Amino acid sequence: MKTLSQEKVVRYRGTELNTKGWQQEAALRMLMNNLDHEVAERPEDLVVYGGIGKAARNWESFDAIVKSLKELENDETLMVQSGKPVAIFKTHENAPRVLIANSNIVPAYANWETFHELDKKGLMMYGQMTAGSWIYIGSQGIVQGTYETFAELAKQHFGESLKGTITLTAGLGGMGGAQPLAVTMAGGVCIGIEVDETRVDRRIATRYTDVKTDSLDEAIRLAEEAKAEGKALSIGLLGNASDILPEMLERGFTPDVLTDQTSAHDPLNGYIPSGMALNEAAALRESDPKEYVKRSKASMAKHVRAMLEMMDRGAVTFDYGNNIRQVAKDEGVENAFDFPGFVPAYIRPQFCEGKGPFRWVALSGDPEDIRKTDEVILREFSANTHLCNWIKMAQEKIQFQGLPSRICWLGYGERARFGKIINDMVASGELSAPIVIGRDHLDSGSVASPNRETESMKDGSDVVADWPILNALVNAVGGATWISLHHGGGVGMGYSIHSGMVIVADGTKDAEARLERVLTTDPGMGVARHVDAGYELAEKTAREKGIRIPMMKG
Ligand code: NAD
Repeated sequence: MKTLSQEKVVRYRGTELNTKGWQQEAALRMLMNNLDHEVAERPEDLVVYGGIGKAARNWESFDAIVKSLKELENDETLMVQSGKPVAIFKTHENAPRVLIANSNIVPAYANWETFHELDKKGLMMYGQMTAGSWIYIGSQGIVQGTYETFAELAKQHFGESLKGTITLTAGLGGMGGAQPLAVTMAGGVCIGIEVDETRVDRRIATRYTDVKTDSLDEAIRLAEEAKAEGKALSIGLLGNASDILPEMLERGFTPDVLTDQTSAHDPLNGYIPSGMALNEAAALRESDPKEYVKRSKASMAKHVRAMLEMMDRGAVTFDYGNNIRQVAKDEGVENAFDFPGFVPAYIRPQFCEGKGPFRWVALSGDPEDIRKTDEVILREFSANTHLCNWIKMAQEKIQFQGLPSRICWLGYGERARFGKIINDMVASGELSAPIVIGRDHLDSGSVASPNRETESMKDGSDVVADWPILNALVNAVGGATWISLHHGGGVGMGYSIHSGMVIVADGTKDAEARLERVLTTDPGMGVARHVDAGYELAEKTAREKGIRIPMMKG
C-alpha cells in the first residue's frame, strides 16, 4: 500500500504542463521535489531537512497549494503563510507567482516556546531555509558550500588539501550528510558520528559516506590507517556525539579538524540527548518535552566542552552553523564562543563579491540538461579553475536526488551572465524544458544571523535584519518567480531572518528581462551589505562592477 506522501507527491517530468504556465509549473514541480522520497528526510511528516524544516504546514495545506498552483493564472500571485495558501490576487505577468512568509514571529516573542505553541495550534510551521521555500535539492545543495569551507580551511591550516588529516564531525542528516563527501573531495579522512542508523545507511547508499561502524575503536583505527597512507576515506560512526567525544578524549584521540552539524538549533526535535536510544528519545519528546529540552541542552553543553578540550589539544575547531555554541553558553559554558563560526573564518570574502550557493534545476527531469549546463560553466568560466574543478568533481561524484540539479558559487555579474545563457539555451531548444534558478538563504545579502552568516561583522551590525527584507523586496519588484521571507532558519527561533529567491528561465524575452534584473539585484544586495559594513573587498567589487552605492567612500 502506498504511504500518504507516495500518493500525493507526484514526479512531474517532461514538457507537458500541469498548470497554466511554466512559472506555476516550476513552483509545483519544486514543491513536489522538496517532498520526493529521494530528496526529503521525512516526507511522511512533510519534513524536508534541518530538524523539522517543512515544505507545507500539513497535507490539507499541501493539497490546497497544489490545487492553487494548478489554477493560478499567468497574471496572478499566490500568497503562502507558513506553509498554508491564504490568498490569490490578480497582479501582473512580471510579478512573482508566489509570495511566501514562513515562521515569522514578532521579535519579543520569537522563541521556540512560542513557536511550538503556535505550531501545535496549527497556526505555523518551521520553514528552515530552502524547505519552506521549495528550492532544496538534496545534500548536493550543501556539498559545494561544505567543500568550499573545507578547502579554505585546508589552505589556511594544512597547505593545499586535507590529505593526511582526520576531520571529526557529527550529524549525517540532510545537510550534515554532505560533510563526509566534502572532506574526502578535499583529500581527507572523515569520522561522522550519527545517532540514527537509517541516516548513516542513506549516506552510504548515495555514496556520500564510504563505510559504517558502531565501534569507536574500529573508527579510530580505520581513520588513522587512512591518514597514515594519505588516503581519502569517510566513516559513519553510529553513536551519540555527546557521549563519543568525551570517550575519544579519554582515549587520547584528537582529530586534526573538528566541527558539528547535528540539528542543535532545535533542542526538542533536532538533537538527541546523551545516553538515549532513538525510540526512548521519541517517547520522552512526546511525554515530557520540557525534560527532553533540559537533557538535550545539557548534552549539548557536554558536547561543546569536549569540543573546546579537543581544540585546546590542537584540533582546528569551528562551529558549522547550528547554533550549538549559543545553547552551550546559555547552559553555562562561558567560553563556548572560543571557536569561531565558519562564515567569519572561511566564507565571508566570497560574500563580499556577491558569491554564494547559486543553484539550478532541470524541470524536464533529464540529467542531460544539467550536463549541458555544466559544459557551459566549464566553457564560460574556464579562467576560474577552482569552480571548474568543482563542476568536474560534482559530475563524477554527485548522485542526483529527485530532479537533476547543480550548485556552484557564482558571484555578482556571473549569475546574470549565466542566467541569460540558460534562458537562450531553453529558447533555442538546446535544453529540453525550462530551468529553475535559485539559491540557499545562506547567501551574500539575504540573511541576518548573528551566530552564523553575520557573525563578527566588521562594523558590529551582526543583528541588523533590514538587509534580508530589502533583498526580498527588491527581488520581488524585479520579478522573481517566487520569493520567501523566513525567520529562524539554520540557527533556530530568535536567531535569524532570511529571504529566498527562485526564478524560472523559460526561454521567453520576458524571462530574459526578469533574469537580468533579479540575478543582478540579488547578489548586488550582498555586495552592498558588505560595503556598508566596511569590507574593502566588497568596495573593490562594487567599484569594478559599477554597483551604485550612494554613500560609499572613494
Ligand atoms: P537534520 O535534522 O536532517 O540532521 C541532523 C542529524 O543529526 C540527524 O541525522 C540526527 O539523527 C543527528 N543527531 C542529532 N543529535 C545527535 C547526537 N547527539 N549525536 C549524533 N547525531 C545526532 O539536519 P541537517 O539538515 O543535516 O542540518 C544540520 C544542522 O546544520 C542544522 O542545525 C542546520 O540548521 C544546520 N545547517 C547548517 C548549514 C551550513 O551551511 N553550515 C546549512 C544548513 C543547515
